[in-house]
Amino acid sequence: MDQTTKPPPHVLIFPLPLQGPVNSMFKLAELLCLAGIDVTVVVTEHIHGRLLRYTNIQDRFNHYPGFQLKTIPDGLPADHPRSGDKFMELFDSLKAKTKPIFKDILTSDCLTAAGSRRPVDFIIADGSLGFTCDVANEIGIPIVYVRTISPCCLWVFFCLPKLIEAGELPFKPAEDDWDVLIKNVPGTENFLRRRDLPSFCRLGDLDDEQVQFYKSEGEENSRARGLILNTFEELDGHVLSQMRTICPNLYPIGPLHELLKAKLSTQKATPLPASSSSLWQEDRTCMTWLDSKPLKSVVYVSFGSIATLTTDQLMEFWHGLVNSGIPFLWVIRPDSIAGKDWESNIAADLREATKQRGYIVGWAPQEEVLAHPAIGGFLTHNGWNSTVESIYAGVPMICWPYFLDQLVNSRFVSEVWKLGLDMKDTCDRSTIEKTVRDLMVVRKQEFTERATEMAEFARNCLKEGGSSYCNLERLVKDIHSMMSQD
Ligand code: UDP
Repeated sequence: MDQTTKPPPHVLIFPLPLQGPVNSMFKLAELLCLAGIDVTVVVTEHIHGRLLRYTNIQDRFNHYPGFQLKTIPDGLPADHPRSGDKFMELFDSLKAKTKPIFKDILTSDCLTAAGSRRPVDFIIADGSLGFTCDVANEIGIPIVYVRTISPCCLWVFFCLPKLIEAGELPFKPAEDDWDVLIKNVPGTENFLRRRDLPSFCRLGDLDDEQVQFYKSEGEENSRARGLILNTFEELDGHVLSQMRTICPNLYPIGPLHELLKAKLSTQKATPLPASSSSLWQEDRTCMTWLDSKPLKSVVYVSFGSIATLTTDQLMEFWHGLVNSGIPFLWVIRPDSIAGKDWESNIAADLREATKQRGYIVGWAPQEEVLAHPAIGGFLTHNGWNSTVESIYAGVPMICWPYFLDQLVNSRFVSEVWKLGLDMKDTCDRSTIEKTVRDLMVVRKQEFTERATEMAEFARNCLKEGGSSYCNLERLVKDIHSMMSQD
């Protein structure tokens, strides 16, 4: 049938309500709108409130007649932190309280915009929200998952049953050697150590709620009709071919944020209003500060949207950065330090030294920061979005992973891709000072060359005929072919 004569397919997108997934799912939504598909993005009321407060996202999407934004409760009280050690409560609440409402939304006609769009034909949901697949199966709508964590960690999730069967898990960190190599994650036998496994593996207890949750997440992936991944073949080809033995239908379409820019540059005649999906107020004054700094001289420091630091860790980083003598731009998120009044405890000499070579903001326009010529390195927690953004920008990394996939990612950054130095499990001022100097001075040329080479691969995969470009085209084609024929 000629596709131009029938109404476009209607895709519902449901991101995990966290900054990283929200960022990438809005980019995906825009890419599908550009492909002429009707898109409904469902976000939690909590996320919606923050988007309204800190972004102009609705203005941007007003340029796409096929786009609509809907909200759903996450079931948590308004003052719940939804981060740090309370992070897992979000998943419990979504499963228990949001699932029935999600089903109601899909089975009522509230998404058809008074009949002007088709009922939902296709669901794209975060793969950590397994209940979306239950609902999709119950009402017979095809579903594809987006995995916003890294493929290398996802591959470890896939292998968890094997690790348990072979006795590699659990191990008791207090008694055992953390540097023992893991043998049952195929393709990583020569470099993946116990300390590089996702953080819940450190609990030493297979019955722990988190271990059970992520074990079932690994099994969850093959229930969907495919997995959309924010990576590209040239970066993760090795891991992707392992994953395809279990989930044959993968769509690696990363770096997503840049695929969107590449598509926009070829398709939209009039520029759209600039927009971010930041859940905090971006402080753009740091861009002017960066303008005053020499080429590749500044280390950018950010631990993303979920990680929290103790006041001791904060002080070690602070002294380490100042002592390194390297200019630094540091994001200290308002809610990211455990313990009150930390600001009043900063010694006067530290404040003075910071004034001379540092700049601190509560939230930065990170993609722009990483693209700024003054940035020479990124001290990061290795959240997957930050990692991919850094790779695209050609910025070498110092890895200080906080939890979950970040521990695996940092090992891949340092040992597989050779794009930086892994500082996991240490947090003392002298190590921080030395590692910053190693990346920014001693081994600068080596890391910069390697990062530039990888960034070139990342740029090429987005061009017409490139791997991510073609995978997006295949996804769009598959959405059309799975559209119900009523
Ligand atoms: N980010 C940002 N400004 C900041 C810090 C982070 O815009 O000051 C963005 C960053 O570009 C990335 C996201 O927040 O897209 C963080 O996602 P990531 O997966 O790296 O880490 P998470 O926050 O999930 O731990």
